[in-house]
Amino acid sequence: MIERLDEKIELCCDECGDSAGRVFDRDDFDIMIQHAKDEGWRIFKMGREWKHNCADCRDDR
Ligand SMILES: [Zn+2]
Repeated sequence: MIERLDEKIELCCDECGDSAGRVFDRDDFDIMIQHAKDEGWRIFKMGREWKHNCADCRDDR
């Protein structure tokens, strides 16, 4: 899930709730997603909702 804090955004795992470890400016959404992917996160769409699973929780490996 995406946590929105005023001007900042933070990516948190939908399974364990852990943060991706960095807070980004609201305008840096794409950079945040790329950062998470680089960290091994799995980001995918389920129905209409985006899911964000950290490297520990992703279930496809
Ligand atoms: Zn997790």
